Amino acid sequence: MKQYDIIVIGGGPAGYGAALYAARGGWSVLVIEKMSVGGQMTLTHTIDNYPGFDQGIDGWELGERMQKNAHRFGAETLYATVLSAQLAGEDKQIVTDGEILHAKAVILATGAEPRLLGLPNEQTWSGRGVHYCAHCDGRFYQNKTVAVVGGGNSAVTDALYLSHLASKVYLIHRRDALRADRVYQQRLDQQQNLEILWNTTVEELLAEEQLTGVRLQSTLDGTSSVLSCDGLFVSIGRKPITEFLDSQLALNEQGYIIADESTRTSLDGVFAAGDVRTKDLRQVVTAVADGAVAAHQAGEYLTR
Ligand code: NAP
Repeated sequence: MKQYDIIVIGGGPAGYGAALYAARGGWSVLVIEKMSVGGQMTLTHTIDNYPGFDQGIDGWELGERMQKNAHRFGAETLYATVLSAQLAGEDKQIVTDGEILHAKAVILATGAEPRLLGLPNEQTWSGRGVHYCAHCDGRFYQNKTVAVVGGGNSAVTDALYLSHLASKVYLIHRRDALRADRVYQQRLDQQQNLEILWNTTVEELLAEEQLTGVRLQSTLDGTSSVLSCDGLFVSIGRKPITEFLDSQLALNEQGYIIADESTRTSLDGVFAAGDVRTKDLRQVVTAVADGAVAAHQAGEYLTR
């Protein structure tokens, strides 16, 4: 039987932040990561808002460095997919696609993934014109033309942010009214270089080596048109990765694990760190900080 003091699920900045603090604190720690370390950071070419890297750092490299840092203090990594977890009680069992692991405490750091449009070649052009984080990748589009898809607060704040960088911003929304707060809508009207395409959906990504434009369709009469643009920012919401929890923990309406700054969840000995937790600011630096707090809280729990 493989038993650890703490099992961390998810190998992004929250997961390795937690693993570093927990392993350095003397606990036996396993991080379970399904694919490659770094989480959503790997979608970003240059992270230049993580302190200490004055020239910015590639998201992939930062993920690997965080892993090495935690391994230096004895944390281990298992590459496997978590299928289910039994989190109540003192013996917590994590079922992966290969084995059942046991832990006294669990830190959930599975993050959230952007919702995709679901277009056939969307993943092919991801990072080459198609993006899911305006604050991460917007700066590649200085004085260029970009489009943002969505009508919620994220899409509108992304469009506003991009309007200060790009020469022209189109906001593509499938209905004739925005879901975003009124205060943001008023700001949209004030931006000269921002145009809203109402009742419109993106039907096709047009690309050669890089995105060149999108084919649009009117939801009113079905007519199709081509919009030339250098970048497309998909901002139609995020999906926290919590399916494997199978309703064991309290989640909010959007599916995020309810936990305050202490990272404690509705179950004893289970902590939620990073983007999967209810919080205001989802950034690498806040994920790492959550990881440290979760490791501290898990240590307190284990000591008790
Ligand atoms: P959201 O509020 O769920 O909005 C998603 C938007 O994407 C909606 O306008 C929706 O259209 C559209 N959409 C969904 N699926 C689509 C598809 N397949 N094709 C085209 N459009 C699609 O998500 P969010 O904007 O990411 O915000 C998430 C939460 O964070 C919200 O509670 C939001 O208030 C909060 N947030 C707050 C701030 C802030 O500054 N206070 C900033 C960002 C986010 P419909 O409207 O037609 O459904």
